Amino acid sequence: TIVVFGSTNVDVVAYSDRLPRPGETVHGSGYSIGLGGKGANQAVAVARLGGAVELAGRTGVDAFGTLARERLHHFGVGTSHLLPDPAAATGIAVIGVDARAENCITVVGGANMAVDASDADRLAPVLAQARVLLLQLEVPLAPALAAAKAVRAVGGRVVLDPAPAPAEPLPDEVWRNVDVMTPNETETEALVGIRPVDIPSAARAAAALTERGLPVALVKMGAHGVYWRSAEGEGHIPAFKVTAIDTVAAGDCFNGGLAFALARGDALPDAIRFASACGALATTKRGASDAAPALDEVEALLRQ
Ligand code: ADP
Repeated sequence: TIVVFGSTNVDVVAYSDRLPRPGETVHGSGYSIGLGGKGANQAVAVARLGGAVELAGRTGVDAFGTLARERLHHFGVGTSHLLPDPAAATGIAVIGVDARAENCITVVGGANMAVDASDADRLAPVLAQARVLLLQLEVPLAPALAAAKAVRAVGGRVVLDPAPAPAEPLPDEVWRNVDVMTPNETETEALVGIRPVDIPSAARAAAALTERGLPVALVKMGAHGVYWRSAEGEGHIPAFKVTAIDTVAAGDCFNGGLAFALARGDALPDAIRFASACGALATTKRGASDAAPALDEVEALLRQ
């Protein structure tokens, strides 16, 4: 099993010609309401590939919580460990998008931020079965770390997507209890102070990441591909050439694909190629969870 311990949100997106200024009201041309949150998006990405996946975390007991659960069931994500918390509201992201696809986003963590040590304790039986645990930074770090230790104790691997970029340095314990980190350009700069703009700077950033004790660093650079470094070696894996129309959730599909490939036993470079194909395909469709590719689409791109 792949376990994702992370956030579940509902995204409320309003489209308008231009974004409102403070105090102003603008007329929008349409809106959408859908499943979001990095945890949920990554879990859906695994499920779309056909992987067995459980999403752990919390939602509120409210209309948005019901909506999120319905979408997760629709995609085949297990929710037995997604706690309904009557004391908190389901997490939301309120998103404005203008005609140039510029956006502004307010995320209200709600129930995601109520995740605590008791959640990690409750997860013990499922963590004991996990081949891969996928983490992000949208739920509190302490329970996520407790889960990481539990999975490693049974020989599973822990993948941390350090997103959104942390405002403060990650504690030493994180670097010591995670197997793979997958920062994008912004997150890499926040973590090690080096912005990966080309292969030499990405190599320096990857070296700085592994110097902290991290076994595997994967620096994601959008259309510029991925730079990886581990004890076995390092290298650059170019991105697949696709016509990108919406890069939302490319990183989430990359991470879901990586977990899927590692769980079935792919060697690291193969798993990165597989994940890159998932990320590339996600940019060819609009939306977050709706953009996640199916296994046959990924295999077709890998054969090209
Ligand atoms: P994030 O969404 O976290 O910012 P990236 O933008 O780096 O992450 O995207 C994650 C992965 O998706 C990339 O490493 C790459 O494999 C793939 N990807 C993203 N954008 C493109 C693109 N324009 N063309 C091809 N692949 C892409």
